[in-house]
Amino acid sequence: MSEAEALDVLAVAAHPDDAEITCGGLLIKLAKGGRKTGVLDLTAGEMGTYGDEHDRAQEAADAAKALGLSFRANAELPDSAVEYNQPNKLKIAQVIRRTKPEMVILPHWEQRHPDHLACSRLGYDACFLAGLKKVDLDGEPFRPRKIIYASYFRNTDYSFLVDISDEFEPKLEAIAAYRSQFGDAEKLRQKMKTGFTLDELAKSQNRNIFSPGVNIYDLMFARSRHLGQMVGVAFAEAYTVKEKMLVDDPQKMPVRSI
Ligand SMILES: [Zn+2]
Repeated sequence: MSEAEALDVLAVAAHPDDAEITCGGLLIKLAKGGRKTGVLDLTAGEMGTYGDEHDRAQEAADAAKALGLSFRANAELPDSAVEYNQPNKLKIAQVIRRTKPEMVILPHWEQRHPDHLACSRLGYDACFLAGLKKVDLDGEPFRPRKIIYASYFRNTDYSFLVDISDEFEPKLEAIAAYRSQFGDAEKLRQKMKTGFTLDELAKSQNRNIFSPGVNIYDLMFARSRHLGQMVGVAFAEAYTVKEKMLVDDPQKMPVRSI
């Protein structure tokens, strides 16, 4: 992906495919609405069991197209060794200054993979540092207005859910771009429509990488459906914000209470 002018939204993620899996639906939805979206991957995912760096770069580029991104960059930090330190914060802050996203999407801070946790903390600090005048970075000080945290399926402290019913299939297309990671995507996606038998699920789990023992398409379907049912839509993604949400007219709040 090329240099961006100003982005509306930037997702920061540890590994290529993290953004697709956790906030792909929202990124597609925003791009469809004319917003300029981008992803900064911190690593190339080179420690993964499957696929080499070249494969993964091509897959990330294909997935970027499927998401409708205006910008995608890789910070080239070492996979499975992403450290929470000042040089890494500044590296991300420099991208934030360059792309000027109004909103940043970070991983939620409750995580299984240490890289995801480091990414969450680094991303927050980078948003802060990018706005400091005297910090050693190129460009004008800039601080995103909004930070939202995408759920990586461990946390349940959701602040809001986003309806991704119309974006669910395209989101799976973006995930399926990671051929080296998720195996026979087409077959699995077809299966997803009819449902997996337990035996099929067991067999399809051996190539999983996102969370050991979990088939990614089954995870996407089950989680997105479950979240959707909470708010009366087909599929949803979950997000958390640290600040309170301001409501003008509670009577117009969506989702029935009873
Ligand atoms: Zn990851």
